[in-house]
Amino acid sequence: MQKLKDMEQRTEISSMGEFGLIDHLTRHNEIRNASTLLSIGDDGAVIDTFGKQIVVSTDMLVEGVHFDLMYTPLKHLGYKSVTVNLSDIYAMNAEPTQITLSIAVSNRFSVEALDEFYEGVNLACERYGVDLVGGDTTSSQKGFVISVTAIGEVEEGKFVTRSGAKENDLICVTGDLGASYMGLLLMEREKQIYLENPKIQPNFENQTYIIERFLKPEAKRKMIAWLKENKLQPTSMIDISDGLSSEILHICKQSQVGCILYEEKLPIHEETRAAAATFGIASTTCALNGGEDYELLFTISQHDFEKVKECELLNIIGHITKPDEGKVLITNGDKRVELSAQGWNPIKNV
Ligand code: ADP
Ligand code: MG
Repeated sequence: MQKLKDMEQRTEISSMGEFGLIDHLTRHNEIRNASTLLSIGDDGAVIDTFGKQIVVSTDMLVEGVHFDLMYTPLKHLGYKSVTVNLSDIYAMNAEPTQITLSIAVSNRFSVEALDEFYEGVNLACERYGVDLVGGDTTSSQKGFVISVTAIGEVEEGKFVTRSGAKENDLICVTGDLGASYMGLLLMEREKQIYLENPKIQPNFENQTYIIERFLKPEAKRKMIAWLKENKLQPTSMIDISDGLSSEILHICKQSQVGCILYEEKLPIHEETRAAAATFGIASTTCALNGGEDYELLFTISQHDFEKVKECELLNIIGHITKPDEGKVLITNGDKRVELSAQGWNPIKNV
């Protein structure tokens, strides 16, 4: 476990002043997109749309609610703050191009700590080819608050909403589900052990996958690129932040349809299964209700089945039905279970 470490060198934020700090944090900033006409340093950034449509999405992360600095390295936090926002842009079938990043920090944090955070931010921007074009920097009493706004572009009319699913459409999901939740439970358990006895060092052998999924999630850009290459357009799409169950219910509600999911088709990583067993939770429950997977869930016409079934990035987990057929999971024992939204809800959990 790491404490919010006072590194050998500690530069007080106050020694730099607000503008000095902004200049310092953004000193490595690069421009990667031709659409970024004007970036950090003016009253606003200027973006050229080149005739494309613009998608905007914003998210806020609050210390103690969305992350715990006891076990979240600041570099990972910076990376994750960016990728979870990019995930929303991909979920609209768009390509992210710019972000703005606003932070509120207290004097608990040193300049070096913020540098680590920005290292993660810059790495995510580099990997996903997006430009950091602005933000805001302010102080907070105690905690760390992060707000990221992501901007993306999509060809005219090609954006995908939650409301277009039609009867008989296939339900597809990328990657695998429930791993991040298992990573969270593992970190929480180790934190408790550490608090009781700081001498005990955690052993994370054979659990690196679930930890990485939790601390450093990736946005599913390959899925969007594959759909484009194959000239396929989902009928509806959403990214999985609150659990599969909750997200498919959003699609059903907004599309006014029902759905059938099959338990045997749910993609679950072996490390997730092993962790679920140690925590005494059914791995299906993790897949349905675990949060922060950041996989993409989408529906697509049956006509596209031949192409979709060859795609290694996804699994077909069910299909869309008439609204009066309900929203159900067919279990391995052939039972019909009504899906309910038990997804992780920070408001409910406060
Ligand atoms: P203003 O007073 O117009 O809000 P600021 O002094 O807050 O401007 O910011 C100066 C410039 O630095 C702006 O371009 C702003 O977008 C950018 N900026 C401020 N804080 C951050 C940050 N944390 N990360 C990246 N860019 C930032
Ligand atoms: Mg400002």
